[in-house]
Amino acid sequence: MKIVSLGEIVVEIMATEINQPLSETGLFSGPFPSGAPAIFIDQVAKLGVDCSIISAVGKDGFGDINLKRLLKDGVDIAGISVLEDEVTGSAFVTYQSNGDRDFIFNIRKAACGQLSLNNANLAVLDDCTHLHIMGSSLINQNIVDLCLTAIDIVKSNQGKVSFDPNIRKELLNENMKASLTKILANTDIYMPSEAEVTVLSSCDNDAAAIKEYFTHYNVSEVVLKQGSKGATVFTPNSMTEISAFLVDEVDPTGAGDCFGGAYIACRVKGMSIEESLSIAAQCGARSVTFKGPMEGTSTREELLQFFQ
Ligand code: ATP
Ligand code: MG
Repeated sequence: MKIVSLGEIVVEIMATEINQPLSETGLFSGPFPSGAPAIFIDQVAKLGVDCSIISAVGKDGFGDINLKRLLKDGVDIAGISVLEDEVTGSAFVTYQSNGDRDFIFNIRKAACGQLSLNNANLAVLDDCTHLHIMGSSLINQNIVDLCLTAIDIVKSNQGKVSFDPNIRKELLNENMKASLTKILANTDIYMPSEAEVTVLSSCDNDAAAIKEYFTHYNVSEVVLKQGSKGATVFTPNSMTEISAFLVDEVDPTGAGDCFGGAYIACRVKGMSIEESLSIAAQCGARSVTFKGPMEGTSTREELLQFFQ
């Protein structure tokens, strides 16, 4: 078994003060390795499943810090193209006292925004049994085409696809919605947040939307992420809930990606929905106790230590 994710690798650079405006001079900490598909795959590696990521970085320090971290944690980095003439993506972030975040992204015009069928290393898909796609990665048509090709390759080898729409309603335009719907049409495990459940559905209530994903698409599991309330997994004939573990939240960024990587790693290993959900919720909870999006990915040993 082998899990592959596809999409952006960036660094995150965080304002050190709460309410520190990005329009004023201030202190920042970082760079921290980041990018939703990168955090996801780092968590998969830490649970001991073979994995790669198809992505691109520049030939610079921001690329190196990501390559080094992913390699150290056990991700095969052969799928990451190092593009000579591009810089690695970045996100500057500041936290407001109400928990909201403001970002300045350099992604579209950075190395990961240039990812395409021409420069991607699709060979890492040869032995891939599970592909994970994130809505945040679908920033241009080249990347959408790459995702659809990757899906075709994996599906033709009887592999499965999971999909985290990872987009807020406010950012959704018709183009993006069409791309997300194309990916959903090929999805086995759909992993929305609470605010995203109905986004790709013709129904406006959660239960009807989830039913529609089972009946109008080929989705077999809907994994609903509910932040500090926990998570729920739906299949056409079952519902499995878990409460969130009680922790002191330091930085919520990356929780969904850690949770998702852990859930898919466990399901791919053949664990039950209950067991997978429990380990995923532990990974999500532990991740929010660390500052930095990829700093809180967990091994089984780290989970045992943390929750004992
Ligand atoms: P993101 O904002 O990164 O996209 P998400 O909406 O995809 O996040 P969340 O629901 O925030 O994902 O987090 C995923 C899981 O992590 C939750 O279902 C929960 O189990 C766990 N989790 C998240 N936040 C907390 C918290 N504050 N305390 C405990 N567990 C948490
Ligand atoms: Mg999310």
